[in-house]
Amino acid sequence: MEKVLEVKDLHVSFKTYGGEVKAVRGVTFDLHKGETLAIVGESGCGKSVTSQSIMRLIPEPPGKFDGGSILYKGKDLTKLKDPEMRKIRGSAISMIFQDPMTALNPTLTIGDQLTEGILQHMKLTKEQAKKVAVDMLSLVGISSPHVRLKQYPHQFSGGMRQRIVIAMALVCQPEVLLADEPTTALDVTIQAQILELFRDIQKKTGVSIILITHDLGVVAQVADRIAVMYAGKIVETGTRREIFYNPQHPYTKGLLNSVPRLDIEEEELIPIGGTPPDLFSPPVGCPFTARCPYAMAVCDRVYPDQTCLSDSHGVDCWLQDVRAKKLLATK
Ligand code: SF4
Ligand code: MG
Repeated sequence: MEKVLEVKDLHVSFKTYGGEVKAVRGVTFDLHKGETLAIVGESGCGKSVTSQSIMRLIPEPPGKFDGGSILYKGKDLTKLKDPEMRKIRGSAISMIFQDPMTALNPTLTIGDQLTEGILQHMKLTKEQAKKVAVDMLSLVGISSPHVRLKQYPHQFSGGMRQRIVIAMALVCQPEVLLADEPTTALDVTIQAQILELFRDIQKKTGVSIILITHDLGVVAQVADRIAVMYAGKIVETGTRREIFYNPQHPYTKGLLNSVPRLDIEEEELIPIGGTPPDLFSPPVGCPFTARCPYAMAVCDRVYPDQTCLSDSHGVDCWLQDVRAKKLLATK
């Protein structure tokens, strides 16, 4: 499958008064054309920092890019000069944030905001740009777009505003859309509608989506593939099926056990005990050791290599490593 984005061994840290936080510690993944990849994990696991790094939106300082590469069509985004990156941002790769209100300017009409983005990135006349804006509003399911263009953000409901933000992100026909918790601020019904909209838009435009979320319910509805992040690392990747029906990392299993599922009646929800490690001085071994019911002596000392369970399913856990399996068998 064609790869639109390849992130390799990404490292990002932040300087704080307390010391240096290693927020992203060697993250590697690919994004295929037309797919939705969900990056899932608890808050502070590095998922938002990963997506902001792709957009080169990490402020330096306090942020610091410590190594790795982000290839978009063979170009390493980490090496681009600012003006080049600005061209890519918004046109080839665009981003949707959690809170639609911060993404919209309250003093400008929706039409002005949409056409501004269009005129910035595309060589069009004002009239043509307006036509694109109208088409975009229709695409995201806003009726009477001609009338709506003249209105201000406060004249729309929360769900409608998020649709407008999505329209703004799509207006220059990006190949990659990064969506960081795009439905968190919305109620459940609207959330479902927005997720449906993502699927619909993907079918129509072929855009590749990276969805950042802590919510496995959201993931179950839209992701083709899932990357589970913990303490700055991706600990398991697989298709939606592999992650939901055959999770192998104890952390992934813990995440799945801690959310309610519609297909199981009267199940017992078990939260994961303990807290993630402090990323000022991250553990050298598996960062889940302190919370893992299966931890072995080696876990704490050496970080496990990735074991490939299928072409699409990989896990960083000693339980799956043949060397540890042999050791356990000879005990
Ligand atoms: Fe648990 Fe060890 Fe696997 Fe980490 S490597 S998840 S501590 S069994
Ligand atoms: Mg976040």
